[in-house]
Amino acid sequence: MQTCSRCQTQAPDTELFCPTCGADLREYSTTVVALKKMQANPRVSMVRLAVAADACPTCRRMHGTYPKDQVPLLPIEGCSNGLGCRCFYEPVLTEIYP
Ligand SMILES: [Zn+2]
Ligand SMILES: [Zn+2]
Repeated sequence: MQTCSRCQTQAPDTELFCPTCGADLREYSTTVVALKKMQANPRVSMVRLAVAADACPTCRRMHGTYPKDQVPLLPIEGCSNGLGCRCFYEPVLTEIYP
């Protein structure tokens, strides 16, 4: 399941556009918007792809920490969970040494 960041409509993972406002979900889903913010933040060094406890094997394989420019896009292609991909991104912050 993906959520449109513009109007909060939920759409199935296979939808490319928000059924309510027509936004491009490869660009405006809440997960993609969150990822873009992390990529734009210089304090974020890496991005962790976190998976739900009951995630499908496809999503589990994608679990891990990635360089900011090599993060796999969500929803994970080929996710077999009945509710849809529920993976999300977590920022890994650069340690700041005083
Ligand atoms: Zn929308
Ligand atoms: Zn999955």
